[in-house]
Amino acid sequence: MVDKETLVAWDKRYLWHPFTQMQDWLAEEPVIIERGDGCYLIDIAGNRYIDGVASMWTNVHGHNHPELNAALKTQIDKVAHTTLLGYSNIPAIELARKLVELTPVGLNKVFYSDNGSTAVEIALKMAYQYWQHRGEPQRKLFIHFDKAYHGDTIGAMSVGGIDSFHTTFDSLLFKGIRVSAPEPYRSNNPAVKVQWLKAVESKLSEYTGQVAGIILEPLIQGAGGMLISPQGFLKELAVLAKRSETLLIVDEVMTGMGRTGKMWACEHETVTPDLLCTAKGLAAGYLPLAATLTTDEVYNAFLGEYKDLKTFFHGHTFTGNPLACAVALENIAIFEREDLLSRLQPTIEHFRNRLQEFRKLPHVGDVRVCGLAAGVELMKNPDTNTPYPFEEKVGIRVCKEALTRGAILRPLVNTIVLMPPLQISISELDTLLDIVYKSIATGTE
Ligand SMILES: *Cc1c(COP(=O)(O)O)cnc(C)c1O
Repeated sequence: MVDKETLVAWDKRYLWHPFTQMQDWLAEEPVIIERGDGCYLIDIAGNRYIDGVASMWTNVHGHNHPELNAALKTQIDKVAHTTLLGYSNIPAIELARKLVELTPVGLNKVFYSDNGSTAVEIALKMAYQYWQHRGEPQRKLFIHFDKAYHGDTIGAMSVGGIDSFHTTFDSLLFKGIRVSAPEPYRSNNPAVKVQWLKAVESKLSEYTGQVAGIILEPLIQGAGGMLISPQGFLKELAVLAKRSETLLIVDEVMTGMGRTGKMWACEHETVTPDLLCTAKGLAAGYLPLAATLTTDEVYNAFLGEYKDLKTFFHGHTFTGNPLACAVALENIAIFEREDLLSRLQPTIEHFRNRLQEFRKLPHVGDVRVCGLAAGVELMKNPDTNTPYPFEEKVGIRVCKEALTRGAILRPLVNTIVLMPPLQISISELDTLLDIVYKSIATGTE
């Protein structure tokens, strides 16, 4: 193996890291992970860290999981990749059936891709083309929300609402209907629900017959800062979508696969969307895999003679990759065998209760929890609602503190995100929360 110093040198010389100011990176010592062991990651120096953000919100059953590894090994001894363009493969078929069984009734067709952004692009393109086949080509616009995050590709950015990520690319983005957040935006406040819904209703009437779909992250806006939707918002939004006969697209890229305590966030409000996107946890955090599910209604609109060009002309090279699908099937099998969703409930309860203590810290503003995901918002002065200036990098500072105490985290600006693997034990969760508590206390001094 290449020695540690060489790896560090090569990293700095050859790599460009995502969402990273490389000038800062070059000035610091990188953590280079070599192995995983359950909820822990181990770096090349042998340090063990608890994975507090499930490796970018993806990991479900822990790292280096024997059964997931075995599923991959079994599949790789058969074939690693074959295309779904014009051909099929066994794991892709079996997983599609399983996903239809697992998602809300009515979602009957599965279209694969490789990541959350593409799952969203597909949902948008399907909705857009659907209306052309339905004879309503003027339905071209998507309603989307402030603080929303749907990915980094151009289409997904076009329906996003995080200015710091998106304004640079403004002139590249397609036009949509952005619903502004009520001011001040205290996310889980019932008054916010009324204001959001009123705003959507007014956009729907302003753009009657022009709305192709409404896209949102159900229950919680993730990358926007772990902002919890008011209870009932999704349900009432679904009613508005139905009433105006537009399509409802739920982006469950983060919330799907058990993160909120149910398999899908939309189950909490018994909503069946017209399109559902899933990615991050789909292949248990092992491989890039995504799926966009839709109804027979949408699917059937694309049927026709070859010459009619009603085909959905979209597909990625690695769509339906057999290795990724095989590991996703095992991922779901473990959920079922271990009754993980039931076992998760006391863990979530404990997580929620312990996080309440964090409010006692002098620089903690809001603490937001949804299932096994949380955001702890750091504030210069919570009493006067004064945020930390961006350039103080307080989120990064706290995460560095956590690293020295043995936890891997990644902030969203001034919000500390907690999103451990779903299989985390209560005692591991306590270890993580103790580290984060101390790191906030010292990192905000
Ligand atoms: C992460 C995320 C995406 C983008 O997924 P990628 O795999 O990073 O492209 C889209 N939507 C939501 C809600 C996400 O959290």
